[in-house]
Amino acid sequence: MAKIAFIGLGAMGSGMAAVLADKGHEVSAFDLNPEAMAKTAAAGCGAAATIADAVEDADFIITMLPNANIVNAVFAGDDGVFRHAKPNALLIDCSTIGVSDARHLGEDARSNGFDFIDAPVSGGVAAAAAGTLAFMVGASETQFACAQIILQDMAKAVIHAGEIGAGQAAKLCNNMLLASSMIATCESLILAEKLGLDAKVFFNIASQSSGQNWSLTSYAPIKGLVPNAPVNRDFENGFAGSLMLKDVGLALIEAEKAGFNPAMAQISKELYSKYVVNAGIAKDFSGIINMLRQ
Ligand code: NAD
Repeated sequence: MAKIAFIGLGAMGSGMAAVLADKGHEVSAFDLNPEAMAKTAAAGCGAAATIADAVEDADFIITMLPNANIVNAVFAGDDGVFRHAKPNALLIDCSTIGVSDARHLGEDARSNGFDFIDAPVSGGVAAAAAGTLAFMVGASETQFACAQIILQDMAKAVIHAGEIGAGQAAKLCNNMLLASSMIATCESLILAEKLGLDAKVFFNIASQSSGQNWSLTSYAPIKGLVPNAPVNRDFENGFAGSLMLKDVGLALIEAEKAGFNPAMAQISKELYSKYVVNAGIAKDFSGIINMLRQ
């Protein structure tokens, strides 16, 4: 069993750290939020007082944080990972950040004597808590083999996407697709309502027809269709609309660099921007159905 430091115990990280502790790993966890710390300690993780305390004995250091600036601060700050981790520790960043951000972090880590890999995830809060995430990993063959031993304990799939940054590239393309598929799913559910179809009947039909997709079958934003979907908890503790907006924005930055202008993603960005202003930064992205209904 491994010694693992886990930094960032929010909607995703709290479940992932708990799963690792449950599988018998020694997890030393840290978050700025005391409530997140208490929840993770109750799930069997050690509560570290600082990042330095969390990382000092760890062989693997996992970060699950909102954005690249925060990951950078956690790595390079005075109290941070570079100053206090063991020299042979493997840094695994599971946050969604930009492709070039991941490559810069990899270079910074290397110049500080550490191996770094990007391993963003797909699956949402329910999959994080159940240990059934999909990891897309940017790493060398050797780094991947080393990280896989830990990642597989939180996963239904661990996929080597390519060298450092490739995990983020896959994640941004995936979430660009998810952003549009959620909006399209909401629009279909709304039209079905307006045409007098029973929501459960339409869900049953579309789930087994060519409209089938994850936004519908795992996340449908109408109460009572999917038991764990955020709609059943007033869109709390899910994938925040502001994080989806971040991901579509990152995908569009990468698209522009590649000389490509994806039209659906541009519209998604406009709609999620309005949604975040209307609903606030924390509500789950599928709550956009309420805005689309108006
Ligand atoms: P979250 O906002 O719920 O959690 C982030 C946590 O980081 C918070 O608990 C916060 O207190 C903590 N934090 C912030 N700054 C910190 C610092 N300097 N030191 C220690 N802790 C700090 O976010 P989340 O939904 O768990 O998402 C985390 C990452 O995973 C994001 O990059 C997101 O894009 C990605 N992601 C989220 C989902 C989802 O369904 N929520 C799915 C896939 C990927």
